[in-house]
Amino acid sequence: MGNFEIFSQTGGLMFTLFALGCLLIAGIIAAKDDRLFSPISFLLSAFAFDFFGTGVEKLAVSAFEQGSPVETYVMFELLLFLVSMICMSSAASRFIASADRSASSLPVWILGGLGGVAVILFTVIIPAGDLVNRMRLIFPLVSFLYLTVGLAARFSDNHSDGYVLAFGITILLAIMTVLKFFNIYTPWYITPMSYILYALSFLLMRNNATENKLEKAEQDLIKYNRRIEDIIKSSPFPIIISRLGDDKIILANTNAIKLFGINPKAIDHYHLKDFFADSDNRRLLLERLEEQKEVQDFEVLIKTPVSDTPFWLLTSANIIDYNYELALYSAFQDITSRKNREALLQNQATRDPLTSLYNRRYFEEEVNRQILKAKAAGLPYSVLMLDADFFKKVNDTYGHKTGDKVLIELAAKAERALRDKDIVARYGGEEFVVFLPEINSAQAYKVADRLRQSISTIVVYSDNNQEVRFTVSIGVSSSEISDNVDTLVKTADEALYKAKQGGRNRVEVFTKNDMKKFINQGEQMVKDEKKNQHPVYDKENAAEISLLDGVDTKDISVGKE
Ligand code: GH3
Ligand code: MG
Ligand code: MG
Repeated sequence: MGNFEIFSQTGGLMFTLFALGCLLIAGIIAAKDDRLFSPISFLLSAFAFDFFGTGVEKLAVSAFEQGSPVETYVMFELLLFLVSMICMSSAASRFIASADRSASSLPVWILGGLGGVAVILFTVIIPAGDLVNRMRLIFPLVSFLYLTVGLAARFSDNHSDGYVLAFGITILLAIMTVLKFFNIYTPWYITPMSYILYALSFLLMRNNATENKLEKAEQDLIKYNRRIEDIIKSSPFPIIISRLGDDKIILANTNAIKLFGINPKAIDHYHLKDFFADSDNRRLLLERLEEQKEVQDFEVLIKTPVSDTPFWLLTSANIIDYNYELALYSAFQDITSRKNREALLQNQATRDPLTSLYNRRYFEEEVNRQILKAKAAGLPYSVLMLDADFFKKVNDTYGHKTGDKVLIELAAKAERALRDKDIVARYGGEEFVVFLPEINSAQAYKVADRLRQSISTIVVYSDNNQEVRFTVSIGVSSSEISDNVDTLVKTADEALYKAKQGGRNRVEVFTKNDMKKFINQGEQMVKDEKKNQHPVYDKENAAEISLLDGVDTKDISVGKE
């Protein structure tokens, strides 16, 4: 490619050196890309060796004109052109390798070997001036042709204008070499200009490499997203992907669409938060996600446009990259039946099946908790013990079924008449117990009396449509008496006994004065070894309550205020 005329004039040499400088800078920039580093390095080396070869050619020509021996120059010149050819074909091989990933050094070895043999043969063994003249053209010509093949291999890249430009220059240089072969004059400035154009093509190649990489990354991302979508679509679990930024649903599989009642044609109209029935529940989930980036087996309460009542789902959620955005991947599992079973078991453990009121066990546990709270807050509380009057007679007269009806109505009335925070429980048989937080004994008396009155207005119909009316007696105890749930119940029971004795359908309050009598009575009962007997009425279906069970007499005598 070189033209030794560039060495004949200072201007030409300066211009060529400037062009080589441009080529070097562009080459260094391009070589920063991993895949361009090796071919560009070889190309730069090839140009450098060619430049020096051309310089030596100029020396050979000068020596020839002065009649001096030229063999050493020629041999050195040809060796430089040979090395240049090897470098250029290595670059070509590497361009091809980058395209199909299988670099072949065979052409380089063949060209290098043949070239080496030719140089030795025609300069040392059988010196032939004409053939030497041809060789200095054949080496570059072969290099250019192989380089065009290498560059053309990259045309299939999505972005390849750098290679196309380099291909064009290389073809031009090949044509120039052929013209020289036929001794047709070619101007010297073609060489530095081609350097500058190569420099430009290097920069374009670097740009192409970046664009191709970006495109590949984009395609990989599309493939990755498609794979995620395929996995999600084929999952037996409902899965939703929502954008973390605005909470909009981006993807929902068929199972999720069905479960959440989503319109599949307008998925992006929905926000995930719209499906949360409980905002606290959602906040807790988001807090966990923020801390750990993923949440396993978290119970969420979900409401949907197609379900009448909210239902429980188990969710596992992860924060993922989806389409250049942070997204929430949520997989769900329907646990409604499990939750229902849990609720049923919970109910069975805490509720009375006939009246649906709390049972005695729950009452005692809950009241214990509430007493602790009330004590801490310095608030009063009261306990009512309630027993149906002459209930045996109801059963005997109208039948057991009507008796049950009476118990159900009585329970419902008590629940309705009292506040939400009051705890009403069936203590056993036809006995009920009530805990009234924040109510002292005087207020409790009024509450109990009103309750007694409103129960007396209840009318139940027997199987043969007879009107059944009934009354209750109520005993009251309070935080003025004790802070022990057993003692409270027993003293309320004691007051109830008094109400029964006093003629029934009335309320009696257990006072501090009753306490002494109560304790003496208890001590007497210990003596009589009758501690397991209830003083007046038997309690069917209920555990017997001894008046002394859990009562610390010392504790009571001190008195609780
Ligand atoms: P008083 O309390 O006024 O002294 O008289 P009483 O007739 O209510 O007295 P007692 O406590 O002796 O009778 C309670 C009756 O309640 C006995 C039992 O057959 C009945 N009973 C207990 N549990 C149930 C129930 O679940 N259903 C029905 N129908 N009766 C029940
Ligand atoms: Mg009774
Ligand atoms: Mg009774």
